[in-house]
Amino acid sequence: MATTQTESTLATYPTASDGTVASTVPVGAVYAEGSTLDWGTSLVEGTVVRDEKVAPNAPWSAVVKEGHVLTIVDVGGNQSADCLLYNADEPEERYSVPDTLAWQGNAYVRTGTVLRSSEGRPLMTVVANEIDRQDTIGGACGKESNTLRYGHHVMFHHGCRENFLAEAGRRGLGVRDIVSNLNWFMNVPVEADGALGIVDGMSAPGRRVAVRAEMDVLVMVSNCPQMNNPCNDFNPTPLRMIVVDPDPDPARAGVPDPEADSPQSTQTPHTPGDAA
Ligand SMILES: [Zn+2]
Repeated sequence: MATTQTESTLATYPTASDGTVASTVPVGAVYAEGSTLDWGTSLVEGTVVRDEKVAPNAPWSAVVKEGHVLTIVDVGGNQSADCLLYNADEPEERYSVPDTLAWQGNAYVRTGTVLRSSEGRPLMTVVANEIDRQDTIGGACGKESNTLRYGHHVMFHHGCRENFLAEAGRRGLGVRDIVSNLNWFMNVPVEADGALGIVDGMSAPGRRVAVRAEMDVLVMVSNCPQMNNPCNDFNPTPLRMIVVDPDPDPARAGVPDPEADSPQSTQTPHTPGDAA
């Protein structure tokens, strides 16, 4: 049930215990009454340096310092968090889907996946993940693709590309900087014949993923507004973004020991060019 429209252009959303979160999204874009919300905690022990709530349908960005760990909480479950990464100092170097997937030789993002840049360098590493697999193939929604897929009546429904562009504008970036992205908590199975689907999610309220910055990284997220397919369970819900400076003891912090065997270290690294 929709809430009552107010005069304010800033919507406020109830939180579990500590006040409200502001958004430029008008009131009315709220999650369904009775939605189960679990705001979660950081997946990695450490000193909290940032803890923000992202309203449904809204963008977010922050610079995560090298060594710090960002936990993204899927507060309401099955909420796609579209995500782009940039070298914070040289944003021409940015997240690359083909470098990431070809290097690890697997189509899915899981614990241990190194999220690589257009230069092949590690931007971030997935250090913990509470769903089976994360997507980086399905792409981002936008008003143009929505109109093609679902009809002219949805052309004024903003999508993730519009969120990315709005957030990019605050960071001195623009349309040329919007590239293929990650979709945290979105389920895009690769079928036996290679076909892709965008189907009901595997996540649930409070499920989390944690990524460690391997350099100072600008992280941009669109809390996906899509209402025309099941990627958000037809009920966009908030996200929580928690950045910690992890405990120096890797075991206690839950961060994999870089010296230990890992999926990355047991593979023979190869460049995307080798894959052809
Ligand atoms: Zn979207």
